[in-house]
Amino acid sequence: MNDIEKRVAELNKLLHEYEHAYYVLDKPLVPDAVYDQLLHELIALEKENPSLIYPDSPTTRVGGTAVDGFKKVTHRFPMLSLSNAFGEEDLRDFDRKIRQAIGDNFSYVCELKIDGLAISLKYENGVFVQGATRGDGTVGEDITANLKTIRAIPLRLKEPVTIEVRGEAYMPKKSFETLNQKREENGEETFANPRNAAAGSLRQLDPKIAASRNLSTFIYAIGGDGEAYGIDSHAEMLDYLETLGFPSNKERQLCATIDDVLTFISKWTENRQNLPYEIDGIVVKVNRYAHQDELGFTAKSPRWAIAYKFPAEEVVTKILDIELTV
Ligand code: NAD
Repeated sequence: MNDIEKRVAELNKLLHEYEHAYYVLDKPLVPDAVYDQLLHELIALEKENPSLIYPDSPTTRVGGTAVDGFKKVTHRFPMLSLSNAFGEEDLRDFDRKIRQAIGDNFSYVCELKIDGLAISLKYENGVFVQGATRGDGTVGEDITANLKTIRAIPLRLKEPVTIEVRGEAYMPKKSFETLNQKREENGEETFANPRNAAAGSLRQLDPKIAASRNLSTFIYAIGGDGEAYGIDSHAEMLDYLETLGFPSNKERQLCATIDDVLTFISKWTENRQNLPYEIDGIVVKVNRYAHQDELGFTAKSPRWAIAYKFPAEEVVTKILDIELTV
């Protein structure tokens, strides 16, 4: 094996190990920035050497796998991931590709990227019937009983519609601090961050535990075809979800240009500490469905959306240096 082949093999092995710890055990082995950096490195190496793309490379799949203990749910519409942007250059590149495909006459919706876990909720005639984790994007876990303990999730909608929605379940910062403090007092292991605490809470087989964890949620999408509900843009869809009684995040903004997107990002890079929940970036989506349809999807994510990730903090960079020189 030459050096590149060795590095690709090593990155595959490391990333699989980190993903298992993160998605299945809810106990990350390394900070997200380290994982993101290694994944980025693998993406770059695979781009230059396509023959080195393993069929099970972490770059080719979404998220985690369903754990035993819960019924499996096959999603009617796959729950995809988002491609990532780590800086202005990535965002401008994303914008350039979009303009090449659909021209200049479109707008973006910017949303906070809530640092929780993706959930899918099914309603039949307005009644909540099933809730699931994303799992590997195709098959998730049925966590209906746990999700019913989240007060923000409506059990009955304001209209008797049959609909599947997608959102993020999260643990507010306050709940996280209280929970870890209690765990420390009891000599129990503490959670690494609110995201892992939320995921751990929703994958408890006893819903009483989830109920005690004070989780909350924001809903940000309809699963499948929004047009079936007479909607033709993402912004309209968020308004519609609100009228049905879903909690949506208010800090969203329509942006006419990528410069406006960058301004929104700067604002939240400075202000995110003041939010009562953690965010790990900003999600940028092309607003109109007609444009989204034109842009389409890759196997893993939509081409009309990107997740900008906030830069790593000082302490993480240090760990990263060590990690990357190993
Ligand atoms: P992602 O975090 O890059 O983005 C996609 C997810 O964003 C969606 O599935 C959804 O859950 C969420 N989201 C939040 N707000 C949203 C909004 N308004 N609109 C749409 N989506 C929104 O992708 P991912 O595949 O969920 O996970 C990758 C993340 O997991 C990265 O942050 C990575 O660092 C972390 N990770 C860390 C480790 C580790 O070892 N530390 C291992 C694996 C993954």
